[in-house]
Amino acid sequence: MERDKVIFDIIEREHQRQKKGIELIASENFVSDEVMQAMGSCLTNKYAEGYPGHRYYGGCQVVDEAETIAIERLKQLFGAEWANVQPHSGAQANMAVFLAVMKPGDKFLGLNLSHGGHLSHGSAVNFSGLVYQPLEYNVTPDTNLIDYDMLEEVARREHPKLIIGGASAYSREWDYARIRRVADEVGAIFMFDMAHPAGLIAAGLLDNPVKYAHIVTSTTHKTLRGPRGGVIMMGKDFENPFGKKNNKGELRMMSSLLDSAVFPGVQGGPLEHVIAAKAVAFGEALQPSFKEYQMQVKKNAAVMAQALIDKGYKIASGGTDNHCILLDLRGKFPELTGKVAERALVAADITANKNMVPFDTRSPFLTSGIRLGTPAITTRGAKEELMGEIVEMIDTVLQNVDNESVIKSVREKVNSIMNEYPMFAY
Ligand SMILES: *Cc1c(COP(=O)(O)O)cnc(C)c1O
Repeated sequence: MERDKVIFDIIEREHQRQKKGIELIASENFVSDEVMQAMGSCLTNKYAEGYPGHRYYGGCQVVDEAETIAIERLKQLFGAEWANVQPHSGAQANMAVFLAVMKPGDKFLGLNLSHGGHLSHGSAVNFSGLVYQPLEYNVTPDTNLIDYDMLEEVARREHPKLIIGGASAYSREWDYARIRRVADEVGAIFMFDMAHPAGLIAAGLLDNPVKYAHIVTSTTHKTLRGPRGGVIMMGKDFENPFGKKNNKGELRMMSSLLDSAVFPGVQGGPLEHVIAAKAVAFGEALQPSFKEYQMQVKKNAAVMAQALIDKGYKIASGGTDNHCILLDLRGKFPELTGKVAERALVAADITANKNMVPFDTRSPFLTSGIRLGTPAITTRGAKEELMGEIVEMIDTVLQNVDNESVIKSVREKVNSIMNEYPMFAY
């Protein structure tokens, strides 16, 4: 058969786009060649419904080994007692937890989506908001830090079954111990979704939610630098407090409920090629070089935030503790929307996304913010020195969003800089 030229040309064009641009989308990264190779392997051919040693198909003895290694490496990485590596994505990991912990219509509490929360934490158009009853807490207007007083107040008043921590656009450390205290007080389960900072947590550069939360979910493709996917972990297994007792008066363990919620609850066959790639990525994350990488991610973000502040930009929460910066355009360019800023930056081959800022007066389609992140550019080898230069270019573009020739000259500079930074083979 002839090669599918149409699609492989598209893949090559996407490879070139990734190679020549400055990638600042905070949720993206570049996986290693080995992670990519595992994902593109014959393991995709295998049906393996069930779990290692307990499958509904024959011939699973080999993929069982890869899945078991993925589980063991993940547990080691985060000090967890139990893990499930099958969720196809972060949203599906969260969906499985919802299914294991709640019944339709039950109340749960999560961070306001326009203050940095995620779609799967209660958006009206997502399963979380369609099937369950979302309650929210905010960040404070003055510091833009999590409003723990509000979280506590809503939890005490409403008695949600589940309290969710975690965000997609929040640059600060979390007070896990305080959320756990609130959860224990009101009899809720505390789930933390570390999709964004998981890599920094694995490297020990931020506190580890596995020590505090009942259940932790994550993506594997953001700072953790693995294939696109999700995981669920528990520091310690426990009896489901909301369950029915069996005839011996026992409650089901949460690990068994979560396994059943992933499969057959929300998924069919696991993606064993992706699970093998997760194992490779977790193996990489256990190496000392991964800690060095994450230290550079954090340093680059801090330097970039300071360079932006020095140029007169406002940053939500005033800076960053992690890999992510939420630029509040209302500080320097009150008339400029995130939508227009994103378009101008993309035209200069600087890729970032528009984002709501806390207490934004514009819609999610326009927004007043731009979210920036350093995981991907740091994987390319960028050090602090490049951050100042990137901020100069961002500033030039944002001052000239309608000036095509200025944008073109920035783009040429971006392309020539990125030529010097190695990119993986595929
Ligand atoms: C990215 C993200 C997810 C969802 O991940 P997908 O793999 O895109 O489904 C879930 N929660 C948070 C907080 C995220 O940032």
